[in-house]
Amino acid sequence: MPASPLSRRAEHIGAVAPFRLVGDFYATSTYGQRRGDPTICDFTFGNPHELPDPAYVAAIRDALEPRHARWFAYADNLPVAQEAAAASLGAYLGAAFAPEDILLTTGGFGALALGMKLVADPGEEVVYSLPPWFLYEALAVEAGLVPVKVRIDLETYDLDLDAIAGAITPRTRVVIVNTPNNPTGRIYPPETLRQLATILDEASDRHGRRIYLLSDEPYNRLIFDGETFHSPTSFYPYTLLAYSYGKTHLAPGQRIGYLALPPTMPDADRATLRQGAWNVQVAAGWIFPNAAMQYALPRLEQFTIDVGHLQRKRDRMVEALREMGYGLACPEGTFYLFARSPIADDVAFAELLAAHDVFVLPGAMFETPGYFRVCLTANTDMIERSLPGFSKAIATARAGRAVPSVTGGGAP
Ligand code: PLP
Repeated sequence: MPASPLSRRAEHIGAVAPFRLVGDFYATSTYGQRRGDPTICDFTFGNPHELPDPAYVAAIRDALEPRHARWFAYADNLPVAQEAAAASLGAYLGAAFAPEDILLTTGGFGALALGMKLVADPGEEVVYSLPPWFLYEALAVEAGLVPVKVRIDLETYDLDLDAIAGAITPRTRVVIVNTPNNPTGRIYPPETLRQLATILDEASDRHGRRIYLLSDEPYNRLIFDGETFHSPTSFYPYTLLAYSYGKTHLAPGQRIGYLALPPTMPDADRATLRQGAWNVQVAAGWIFPNAAMQYALPRLEQFTIDVGHLQRKRDRMVEALREMGYGLACPEGTFYLFARSPIADDVAFAELLAAHDVFVLPGAMFETPGYFRVCLTANTDMIERSLPGFSKAIATARAGRAVPSVTGGGAP
C-alpha cells in the first residue's frame, strides 16, 4: 500500500517548484510568521494595505439585500453581470463583446484554469514566458497539461517571439501571454502582438489544429502615464481573454472574473466554447462567482482603484531605488517593480531585506534568479519606512558582508 494518501495529481502539483517556493514562503518562512505585523514593510503579494473605498463596500452591501425569493438561487452566468462586463470591456477595448461571451469565473485563477481545460487535453502543451506569474505551472499541471517555458528578453522585458515560435510543436494547444506583465510591468506593443498572431496562425495551419492564445490580462485597467493598453484579442481572433476584478478593485478575496470570447472569433466556435465552458465549470465544481458579487457587478464595473495614487507610489519607489543604485526598469502598468538583485543570490538578498523588516519576493519564485519583485500595493507609510532598509541592504550586499540569517527557516 502506498505510504502517501495523495493522488499522483496532488503529488505532482505539490512538487511544482515555483508553487512550492511560494507556498512555503507564505506559510512557514519569516514572512509567514510576520504577515499582518504592522511594523513590517510588506511588498510581497498583491494584497491591500489600506482600507477599501466605501463605494466598493456599499456596492457589495447593497447586492446582499435580497429583492426576491430566488436572489440566492444557484447562479451561473447572470445576465445582469454579463451585460455590465461586456459593456465595460467593449468600451475599454473598442470591440463589441457579446454579453453571452462573458463566461463568469471565480477570478483570474478560474478564468485561466477554464481556458486551459476548455481547449487542451491532458498531455498537450501550454507555452508561456519566464518570468511568469508563479502559478501558471501549477494550473497547467492540475489541468494535466505540459508546461513549455521560454524566456523573455531580459534587457527590454519584451516577448522573445522567435523563442515562442521555436517552442511550438504539434502538441501545443495554448500560448499564454500576460500583458501588462506580472512581474515586469511591461505592456507589449501592438507590433509584437501582431507578429505573435502571425506566428500562431502559421503554426496552427502547419499542424492542422488551432492554437489558442490565452491572454491573461487582469491588470489591463492599471496602466500608467496615460498609455493605451492593447489586448491580444484585437490581433488574434482565437484569443481567450482571462480577467480578474481582484486587481482593478484590489480586493482579491472577493472572487470574480471572467473568460471572454472576442467578437472576431467565428460564431460557431464561440457557441461551441460557450457550451463547453458551462459544462467544464459545472463539472469542475460549480466554479462561478457568488450571486452577490454578480449582482454587484454593474456598480463594481464603475470602480477602479486610484491609479494616480499607484503611479505616485511607483514613481517614489523607482526614483528612490535607482538613487540607491538598484537596477530596474520603470513599469508601464500593474502594481509591480522587477528589480535586479545587487548580488546573484536573490534569495539571500531577500533575506537581507527581511532582516530590515522589508519583505519582497525573490526572482527564484519567478524562475528568474538575480532579480526581486516589489509589490506597490504597500501603503505610503510602508514605502517611506522601507527606504533605509533598502539602502542598508544594497550597501551590505555591495560590501560583500555576510548575509544575516533570519529566524524561521523555510523558503526565503
Ligand atoms: N494572472 C496574473 C498575472 C496574476 O498576477 C494573478 C494574481 O496575482 C492572477 C492571474 C490571478 O488573479 P486572481 O487572484 O484575482 O484570480
